[in-house]
Amino acid sequence: MLQQSGDSHGPDGKLLQVWEVQNDPVLWSTATPRDPNYQDFLTKLDRTGIGTDPLALLSASPTPNSDLVARNARDWIKPAGCLEKLLIGHQHGRMDTFAAPTEFASLVLRSPDEDRLRIYYYTINQDGIGRASPITEPAMVDLQAGWRLAVALHNHAFHPGQPKLNGITAPSEPDADFNVNLAASGLEQAWITNGLHTVRIPASAFSQFSVN
Ligand SMILES: [Zn+2]
Repeated sequence: MLQQSGDSHGPDGKLLQVWEVQNDPVLWSTATPRDPNYQDFLTKLDRTGIGTDPLALLSASPTPNSDLVARNARDWIKPAGCLEKLLIGHQHGRMDTFAAPTEFASLVLRSPDEDRLRIYYYTINQDGIGRASPITEPAMVDLQAGWRLAVALHNHAFHPGQPKLNGITAPSEPDADFNVNLAASGLEQAWITNGLHTVRIPASAFSQFSVN
C-alpha cells in the first residue's frame, strides 16, 4: 500500500495501492475468483434485475464513443476476466456498488522479463477518480526501468435507473484523451469493465475516439 486515508468504507476513503505478482495466465483468463466480495457483487447485481447486455447498455447512452465500441463489439467486448473481477471485488468490498457506485483506476505493468506484473490501483471512493497522477507518476518511473504499460483499466459502475451512467463499456471523452496521452508511453490496451463485461481497446484504435 502506498497511501491510504479516510474511512476505507466511506466517501472520504482514498487508497493508492500497488501489488506485485507473478504474471500468472489465470489473471488474463475468464476464471472467476473465489473472492467473497466479487461473489457479493454478482449476487447484488442479480437482485437488481437490471439488464446487463453490453450492447443494450451502450445504446442507452448513445455517444460517438459508445457507437464506435458498439460497431466493434465483436472484437472488443469480452466477458470480464479474472483480473477485472478481482479489482471490481476489491472496490465493491470498500463501497457497495449498488448503494454508492464508485470508480477505481488501475495501471498494469509487465516486468522487462515478462515474469511479473505491477498493478497500481487508485480510488477516492467517489463516482470518479479525479486526477490519475497518483498512478501515472509511479508507473512512469517503472517505464524508465524497462517495465511495459500493458493495460490501463478502470470501471464504469452499474447505476440502476440511470441509463446514461449504467455500466457503459465505452470511454468517456476524458477517458479517450487519457488513453491517447498514455499511448505515447507505450500503453498497449485500454480496458473499461462493469464487472461482467470489459471493453478491451487496442492502442491502434485510440485515435478513432472522440476526445472533446
Ligand atoms: Zn471512464
